[in-house]
Amino acid sequence: MSETLNPEVRIGRTTHFINGQWAAEGGETFPVLNPLDDSVVAHVAAGGRAEAEAAVAAAQAAFPAWAALPPGERQRLFLKAADITERRLPEIVKIMAIEGGASTTFAAFQIRLSAAMLRQAASWGYMPYGDMIRSDTPGRTAMVTRKPLGVVAGFTPWNGAFYLAWRTFLLPMAFGNTTVIKPSELAPLSAGLIHAEILEEAGFPAGSFNIVTHAPGAAAEVADVFFEHPAVRCINFTGSDKTARILGARAGQALKRMVMELGGFNPMLVLEDADVDDAVNATCFGAFLHQGQVCMNTRKVYVHRAIHDGFVEKLAAKVRGLKAGDPIDPSVIIGPLINDRAVEQTHERLQDALERGATLVTGGKSHGRIFEPTILTDVPADAICTTGCDETFGPLLVIEAFDDAEAALAQAQNTPYGLSAAIMTRDQARGLNMASRFDTGIIHINAPTMASEAALPVGGVKDSGWGRSGHYAVEDFTEVRLTTMGSGPGRYPF
Ligand code: NAD
Repeated sequence: MSETLNPEVRIGRTTHFINGQWAAEGGETFPVLNPLDDSVVAHVAAGGRAEAEAAVAAAQAAFPAWAALPPGERQRLFLKAADITERRLPEIVKIMAIEGGASTTFAAFQIRLSAAMLRQAASWGYMPYGDMIRSDTPGRTAMVTRKPLGVVAGFTPWNGAFYLAWRTFLLPMAFGNTTVIKPSELAPLSAGLIHAEILEEAGFPAGSFNIVTHAPGAAAEVADVFFEHPAVRCINFTGSDKTARILGARAGQALKRMVMELGGFNPMLVLEDADVDDAVNATCFGAFLHQGQVCMNTRKVYVHRAIHDGFVEKLAAKVRGLKAGDPIDPSVIIGPLINDRAVEQTHERLQDALERGATLVTGGKSHGRIFEPTILTDVPADAICTTGCDETFGPLLVIEAFDDAEAALAQAQNTPYGLSAAIMTRDQARGLNMASRFDTGIIHINAPTMASEAALPVGGVKDSGWGRSGHYAVEDFTEVRLTTMGSGPGRYPF
C-alpha cells in the first residue's frame, strides 16, 4: 500500500495492474496534485511503452477464456463488483474530492450510477446474440451471431472520472472483450486504479482488465501501443473532440474501430408555459454541477421573453447560494476547476463576452481555482461562449430571451456539437414535437441536459462523437459473424 499523503484519505494502490498483478512499487512515479491547492494526493506509477505492451499481451491471453465464460459466471462477478463499489462509497468520495475537485454530490452520484450500471451489465451476457435468416439456397441455413472483438483499449477522461472509467471498460467486458485502460494523468486514481482494486476483490480473472498509468506528456507513448498492436481491435475513447481528431486519424491509419464519446454545447429551451421554479432548479443543476466541467452541462438557456426576467432573477438568487470551497466538506457544491488553464479559459471567454457588450448577472470572479458560478445575458451572437464552437469547461452560463420558439430551436442547434439538449414545457406534445427536430444524441423534456441513468443510451452526434452506453453498446463492442450451413451437394455454375 502506498503512503497516504492526506491522512484523512486512504489512497490505496498506485501502480499498474497487469495480468492480475500490481506492479512493484519503487519505480518511476509522478505526483498527482489536488486542484484546490496543489498538495500532493499520491505518487503514481509513470508507465510507458513496456507496460502498455505487457498489458495488451495479458488482455490478449485472457480473451479466449473471458469470452467463453458462461454468462452466469460473468454475472456473479459484476454483481459482486457492484456491491464492493457501493460499500466503498465514503472513501471513494474523498479521493474524488482531493484528486478531481468533485463535490460529494457529484462523486456520490457517479458511484451510485456505477453500481447501477454494473448490475445492468450483469444481465447482458444473457441478451439474445443472433438471428436466423432464410437463405435463397434450398437446404441452406444462415446464422448471424454477435462475437466479442478481442482486446479493447480505453482512454478515460479526468472529469466524470469514476463513472466514465467504468463505462470505458465495463461495456466492452460485458460483451466478452478484455480491456486495457489508460486513465487520464490528471485523475489516475478515480479514473482507473480504484476500479482495479474493486475488480481484483470481486475475483475477475487475471488479464481480463489491465491498467497502465502514465505521467503528463507520456499519453502518446502508451497510445502508440494501442494503435500499433494487432491484438487491439477497438479503441474506446472518452474525452475532448480535439484529442479525438488526433487519435481518430491514427485509428484510420491503423484501420481500427474507434468509439468516441466527446464534448457538447448543450442548450435548454424554457417555453412560456414552463414551471419556472422547476426550470430554475434544472438549470442550476445542469449548468453548475462539477463547476461546469461535465460533457452534458447546460451551456446556454433560451427563455421565453414573457418569463425571462423572473427566471433570471430566481436563478441568480439560487446560484448565489451555492456553497463554494474545499469539496472534502460534503456541504460544498462548487469546488475548484481542474487547473490554471481551465480558470484562464473561463476568464478569457467571460472577458470576450463582456467586451462585446454582455451583461454580468452574477459571478465573474475566481478565488484561486474556485470560479464563481457565472451567468451572462445580452451576449452577442459572435462571442465565443455563445457560438458553441468550443466547449467552455467552466461555470459560465449564457441566458438569452426569445420571442419565437421555432427561431430559438434553430439557433440552439447552431453548434458543431450534438450531445444533449432539454426543453421545459407543460405541453408534452409540443415538447415532443420540438424534441423530434433536435439533432442531438439525447434530448430531455422537463429534465436538465445533465440527466443520466445506467440503462439509457448516452452518446452524441456531429462533433460529440458516436457510440452509445447501456446495452446499446452491443453495436460498438461486438461484430456480426455470418455462418451458413447446408446439407447435400451444392449446385455451381462451373
Ligand atoms: P482529453 O481529450 O484531454 O483527454 C482524454 C484522454 O485522452 C486522457 O486519457 C488523456 O490522457 C488522453 N490524451 C490526451 N491527449 C492525448 C494524445 N495526444 N495522445 C494520446 N492520448 C491523449 O479530455 P479530458 O480533458 O480528460 O476530458 C474532458 C473532455 O471529455 C471534455 O471535452 C468533455 O466534454 C469530454 N467528455 C465527454 C463525455 C461523453 O460521454 N460524451 C464524458 C466525459 C467527458
